[in-house]
Amino acid sequence: MSEVLKQNVRDVVIIGSGPAGLTAAVYCARANLVPLVLEGELSSTGDQPGGQLMLTTEVENYPGFPEGVLGPVLMAQMRAQAERFGADMVAAKATRVKFQTGGPHTVWYRHPSSGEEREVEADAVIVATGARSLMLGLAKERELLGHGLSTCATCDGFFFRGQHIAVIGGGDSALEEAVFLSRFAESVTVVHRRGELRASKIMQGRAFANPKVKFAWHSVVAEVLGEARVEGLRLRHVQTGDERLLDVRGVFIAIGHVPNTDILRDQVALDPQGYVLTEGGTTATSVEGVFAAGDLSDHRYRQAVTAAGSGCMAALDVERWLEERHSAVGRHRQPE
Ligand code: NAP
Repeated sequence: MSEVLKQNVRDVVIIGSGPAGLTAAVYCARANLVPLVLEGELSSTGDQPGGQLMLTTEVENYPGFPEGVLGPVLMAQMRAQAERFGADMVAAKATRVKFQTGGPHTVWYRHPSSGEEREVEADAVIVATGARSLMLGLAKERELLGHGLSTCATCDGFFFRGQHIAVIGGGDSALEEAVFLSRFAESVTVVHRRGELRASKIMQGRAFANPKVKFAWHSVVAEVLGEARVEGLRLRHVQTGDERLLDVRGVFIAIGHVPNTDILRDQVALDPQGYVLTEGGTTATSVEGVFAAGDLSDHRYRQAVTAAGSGCMAALDVERWLEERHSAVGRHRQPE
């Protein structure tokens, strides 16, 4: 393992730079806490600073943008806002953490230019590492994200008015998305790999009763067609091996989500699916001084605006917690 080079001590470290992390950064910076924000880094597995909105195109449901805004532009503006108030941004991913009741908490990260491992200690940590949608692992899937392929019906359904679209999956998310999308689309085909749905009976009832929702049973996506935009799907029947083309202009992948909480295992309490458990109505985790904001503790709403809201809550929870401890509020610790 690389040598740990320098010690750095902070009031608060924020891990993550999606809407939750950056909103927390704006609030902490304006409270003179000089937060260190570990933004994450670009990786071949699809991780990137800015979170899931970096993978979208037009965002029309973020309040304050009546004409819509591009996901990456929105994130750049949030980042600039956090920097304007003194947040310290580092393009690095937290590699491990050690949290202890009463603190200080330790976060390790790899320095972006030198590659050396660094360690930062903080009285408070806000974890905002988000969640990721499970993907099918097909060629072109990432390229077509935001160009007819989506992982969020609430976000993108509106763009598919009058079109034929497909939803992949057979759980509650898939059926909820299919029923929601039927408000806009001409037809919605649920593509499911088995002949039986995993979704609850009530969701099944709603989907079966909806005349616009059809099913492609025992089917998987062999290929997403289209270069610049989705132009169809090649489906394969898993029992017969037969293939057929499905003429759709939109595809919604709804095969589940995973919270990005690997580094938190054994450090804070997680639910069985790996989401961080927070104390009712707050962002406090099972460890004093560690707070969670955004999709890593939310498998219900998963919206940019709810993530931003919980980032604000986390920053206010941190301020209050530091004040209660007679800690470093106003005693601005500076980076090395
Ligand atoms: P889920 O329940 O895990 O269902 C995932 C679905 O995707 C399954 O049908 C699965 O097929 C399919 N799938 C997984 N990997 C696949 C792959 N590689 N290729 C093709 N299909 C694949 O996930 P979810 O629907 O996101 O739900 C997650 C949790 O949230 C559940 O507990 C659910 O009840 C809850 N939820 C509740 C609501 C609600 O109450 N309104 C709404 C949404 C979600 P198999 O069935 O063959 O495994």
